[in-house]
Amino acid sequence: MPTVADAFPEIVKTREPLAPYTHLKIGGPAEYFAQPRTVDELACLLKFCTASQSPVRMLGGGYNLLIRDDPVSGVVVRLHGPAFSFVETTPTGIRCGGGTPLFELLAHSVKAGLGGLETLVGLRGTVGGSVRCNVGDKNGEIGACVRRVVVLHDDGTEHARTRDQLTFGDHSSDLTEPVILSVEFDLHSESPAALLKRMRRAWVSRKSCEPLSFQSAVRMFRNPPGQDAGKLIDKAGLSRYRFGGAEVSERNPNYAIAHPGTTARDIMKLLDSVATHVKEFSGVELRRELNVW
Ligand SMILES: Cc1cc2nc3c(=O)[nH]c(=O)nc-3n(C[C@H](O)[C@H](O)[C@H](O)COP(=O)(O)OP(=O)(O)OC[C@H]3O[C@@H](n4cnc5c(N)ncnc54)[C@H](O)[C@@H]3O)c2cc1C
Repeated sequence: MPTVADAFPEIVKTREPLAPYTHLKIGGPAEYFAQPRTVDELACLLKFCTASQSPVRMLGGGYNLLIRDDPVSGVVVRLHGPAFSFVETTPTGIRCGGGTPLFELLAHSVKAGLGGLETLVGLRGTVGGSVRCNVGDKNGEIGACVRRVVVLHDDGTEHARTRDQLTFGDHSSDLTEPVILSVEFDLHSESPAALLKRMRRAWVSRKSCEPLSFQSAVRMFRNPPGQDAGKLIDKAGLSRYRFGGAEVSERNPNYAIAHPGTTARDIMKLLDSVATHVKEFSGVELRRELNVW
């Protein structure tokens, strides 16, 4: 059987470094890296991967991803270009592509006077990755506004899931299909000035919790029910705890800072060690928020 690179030479690269496509800028290459140009091309690619039993992984903006130092086996797919990145107004809100940057969705919603998503300001990533991870905070989560999601199955077929067929949890969803192709949001009319005001407040609140001075920092753990992961890490005395180039942020201990030269191994060791110490100190089991490939 031909490899995926033989079958799709125009859109597949071999051993493409993944670090530049992620927020942390660390990690190894993908065995195969695909950037389909159309939905049909993506569907054919999925079908081929299923038939050849090649694992498929979707890469969004890479803001919730740690790529290990070793090569990632199988096919990494990035949704890039107008077929996957678009925003349009609908009678009840907005529809956009799974590869659309979240900030483009927010900018469009404010300009169109459509409210509901503005508290997500300052979050980075694509719409697909953000809906899958149900991003947000105490002020609101993206899942609350989702009306309908179009997904692709392993066999390349398109299916729609409506609100009543979707479950969103704490930084999670039951969207386990290989691809989130597009998302429709239910939004309400509101004046752009009022939306901007709320956006500014949300921006200040979000940025006050992030380790601002460091370009490369990622959230490590989900908040356990009724508790704050950062406070648990702090109470265990782990603020500024360090493993190689990876360090627990002093400003928000639920963030790992990657200093220049940090490896994925450093971050994995930091995550494991922090979870072990918190378990010993407070008996709470922290669950990783960061996806690891
Ligand atoms: C500094 C910083 C601050 C953050 N603050 C917050 C916060 O306050 N609240 C919060 O909730 N999150 C926060 N995050 C997490 C992050 O912003 C989100 O999880 C992010 O939006 C994920 O989107 P992405 O496109 O980058 O996905 P990626 O990180 O690329 O992928 C995440 C997961 O989604 C899957 N995926 C991506 N695209 C698709 C697709 N089209 N179809 C199917 N699956 C897909 C990937 O395979 C992976 O499993 C923060 C991250 C950083 C770095």
